[in-house]
Amino acid sequence: MAVFGCARCGAELTVPVSPVALPDHARQTYGHELLPALMESGTYAVDPEPSGPPWRRWSEVGAQEAGARGVFAPVPALSFGSRGAVVVAPGDVRGTVLIPERCQGYCLGLDGSSGPNLACARCGQAVATRVDDCTLWQAVRLDPDAVQTLTADAPALPADWSALGREYEAIPPVEQGGWWDPRWEAALGVALAHLLAASAGTPVSLPDGLLAETLGRALDLLLPRGRAPRKAAALAGPGLPVPGPAPDILLVPRHPRTGEVWQAPPGVAHTVPVSAGVWLQLALQPARLPAPATGRLPDGVERDDPLPLRPHSLFRPDPRILLHTLARLPAVREPWLRAIHDRVGKSPYSRPF
Ligand SMILES: [Zn+2]
Repeated sequence: MAVFGCARCGAELTVPVSPVALPDHARQTYGHELLPALMESGTYAVDPEPSGPPWRRWSEVGAQEAGARGVFAPVPALSFGSRGAVVVAPGDVRGTVLIPERCQGYCLGLDGSSGPNLACARCGQAVATRVDDCTLWQAVRLDPDAVQTLTADAPALPADWSALGREYEAIPPVEQGGWWDPRWEAALGVALAHLLAASAGTPVSLPDGLLAETLGRALDLLLPRGRAPRKAAALAGPGLPVPGPAPDILLVPRHPRTGEVWQAPPGVAHTVPVSAGVWLQLALQPARLPAPATGRLPDGVERDDPLPLRPHSLFRPDPRILLHTLARLPAVREPWLRAIHDRVGKSPYSRPF
């Protein structure tokens, strides 16, 4: 557990919080309504990328300087703020006041576009940016240059993969009302970028079921058709039998606390990290019964009370998150993948998005 405080006066600015990996939907914009908090209460994540103003357009930065900081395809603008913002849930923040002249937003709340909008209530130092406008996951980003760690964390324990399914919950793919969960759209936007890179430009086949339902259409539409042989992708990870014969690409979980990627067995050419909440659903959930039972319904027969939630639309990976991730993969410098990146960037809401 860590407590963060004002770097100038030492006032406490958070409750005790534990480190987790930054969620895939941290940069997602979704719908036009208020979204929940990005971070679970009692947790924090460090954003490894620079964030906040000043921003510079791609034309000012140029490919060489962008490449030196790990961005390999054009993006509208790059932040030249500090790296290492500490992201927490708004409810875990203490002892701050709003800076009225920095409270810009689009319509329903604050978007943080003018830089830090929260000051330390004791000394007045600008310390954090609260974001709670519509379309944005609500969060407070503590400015790494304006805060300090008051109570340091114990050294982080390595990921315990054997406990993944017990310690963390799967995220159901479909919400009440039939909408795909936006966290799935974000997580599979990230996974799709890695899958495209791993495909090397050849078609990819997925196992039948939820994985094919969510990613199959995008792969078929984005990758060239008719080129053989297809690469085979499969799920792998703790609790799953080793897939055989060895697939070309394994979709494996990324640990929600440490961000570590599950180590695939030797000999697998490519691994694609998938957010653990989504991976757990893809890999393990179909085999689970909602309650202890003797026997079970035959395959294809579903309980009628309550009916399982079904989506009312085709799945659409988040195109902005796909582009963000692709731009940070060195493979995007290869012409075939750059062409896919540019095609999606030109019309990010045409099929399959
Ligand atoms: Zn202070």
